[in-house]
Amino acid sequence: MAGTYAAWRLKCERPDARITLFEGSDRIGGRLHSITPPGMPNMRAEIGGMRLPSFHRFVLNLVQHLELPTRPFKEGNANNLYYLRGQRLRAEDFLNPEKVPYHLRPNERGVPPSLLLKELLYQVFPEAAELSPPELDQLRRNYKKGLTALEDLGFSEQLLQVASAEALELIRDAGGYYTALGNSNASDMIFTLLAHRREKEVHFLTLEDGMQALPLTLAERFRQAGGEIQMNTRLHSLARPSEQGPVSFEVRFQDQETRSWRAKQVILCLPRRALELLLGQCFLFEHAQFVSDLQSVAAQPASKYFLCFDQPWWEPLGLDSGRSDTDLPMRQCYYFGTEGDQPGADPNNRNSLLMAGYNDGRASNFWETFLSYPNRLLESRLAQPQPLPDAVSPTPAMIEEMLRQLSEVHGVKVPDPYQGYFVDYAADPHGGAWHSWQTHARSWEVMPRMRQPVADAPIYICGEAYSLDQGWVEGALNTTELVLQEKFSLPPAPFLPAGHFYSP
Ligand SMILES: Cc1cc2nc3c(=O)[nH]c(=O)nc-3n(C[C@H](O)[C@H](O)[C@H](O)COP(=O)(O)OP(=O)(O)OC[C@H]3O[C@@H](n4cnc5c(N)ncnc54)[C@H](O)[C@@H]3O)c2cc1C
Repeated sequence: MAGTYAAWRLKCERPDARITLFEGSDRIGGRLHSITPPGMPNMRAEIGGMRLPSFHRFVLNLVQHLELPTRPFKEGNANNLYYLRGQRLRAEDFLNPEKVPYHLRPNERGVPPSLLLKELLYQVFPEAAELSPPELDQLRRNYKKGLTALEDLGFSEQLLQVASAEALELIRDAGGYYTALGNSNASDMIFTLLAHRREKEVHFLTLEDGMQALPLTLAERFRQAGGEIQMNTRLHSLARPSEQGPVSFEVRFQDQETRSWRAKQVILCLPRRALELLLGQCFLFEHAQFVSDLQSVAAQPASKYFLCFDQPWWEPLGLDSGRSDTDLPMRQCYYFGTEGDQPGADPNNRNSLLMAGYNDGRASNFWETFLSYPNRLLESRLAQPQPLPDAVSPTPAMIEEMLRQLSEVHGVKVPDPYQGYFVDYAADPHGGAWHSWQTHARSWEVMPRMRQPVADAPIYICGEAYSLDQGWVEGALNTTELVLQEKFSLPPAPFLPAGHFYSP
């Protein structure tokens, strides 16, 4: 996302500049990856990012500017399930404390888990209720809990000041993500969770052609404008530039051949693990501040899997879209829909797509144990004659376990799928699906330093990992736009509203 956006924007503003985009894999898109499953030409299995919230103005304006067709990302209905501690609940059941299998305090009972989190956040940070994102950003920088600065505290540790451990377990179990309630930097987590809570109604969109259409479109427009794209071309080394001299670097192709390049300026649109894989080959690692800044974010493991069925077996259960949540290791499933119900599709085609599992943290560790392919480390991926694909077919043992968990959650015997996809984002070169700021990091100081880690070297870093919108396309775009404005003197992107808050 960051790489294609930077290339496209620079080429639009500087048509005569020679700009080359290097992509290490055989696919443009990185953590946006939309697969068209067999037998479902109008469906997309979104094995990376899948939706855009209405408060992410940057990406939504960009999508509109590029005239990419969108459609609502459906939220489901009141029938969607919560299967927690062996009990099957619907949303309304949370209003009845007798039905909720968690030992909650009296003031935590009878509240849906999403509202419970919101209430706890305002108890921890009562001043935040009416603040805009820039005001909230200022407040959190100076905020102290007693003598301790907010960034020196862990997020879940803070919530424990006002909530029972059981309430936090409920929010984690029913909320779909373990990492969202982890013990990362309280200052950033609270900012991220509160910055958009003032929005009256949040809804989600997705791209009709799949989320990957966004970086693919940017790459295509860049190429049409005369930009050069080198695929399967991995940055291998980066030398310290001499004073006023060009930046020298080496790229390595799939067949291991290495080629040297020179450039006036280099933008590294790489997350933490991809940068770490350059250790020993990149002069940035000689700078202690850079090494410390790099480590100020943690890559969070997550995996996703999709199964294709010849019928929407979930519809007789009253489930038509949206997601169900569980504390089983599959954690979340999303009813993506049926081919024949899509605009322009053959209505007799009942092939249906399910995101059968979406899990992070310790749940993603559960699925790792099934992996039977050498995909995790870059060395083993590169040793293959063909690049290993990001998404693989789940093994029979995995499918058996996926179906067992789906059957338990839904209370029916789930039929066999005809196709499946599994992706593990902890594998190289991603290192994680998304990132979070570590406790003690002062993100507002790290972010500007990462944009240019060594003052006199024209090498810049951007992307989701070092942003205030970690885990979102918005974060990749905000940091990239800041690099373009600050380091290349580009005017602000014309499709953004005046006063858009990028991040510090
Ligand atoms: C499971 C999952 C769900 C998500 N859900 C959403 C969502 O619903 N909505 C949303 O907005 N966001 C979502 N996100 C986040 C979003 O996908 C990312 O924030 C965004 O795509 C990151 O873009 P990036 O450019 O920073 O990094 P990446 O997409 O990681 O791009 C880095 C690129 O660099 C390449 N590369 C790595 N090493 C080298 C090298 N040495 N040389 C050359 N190239 C190299 C990689 O192949 C990759 O193409 C999700 C992410 C995941 C994984």
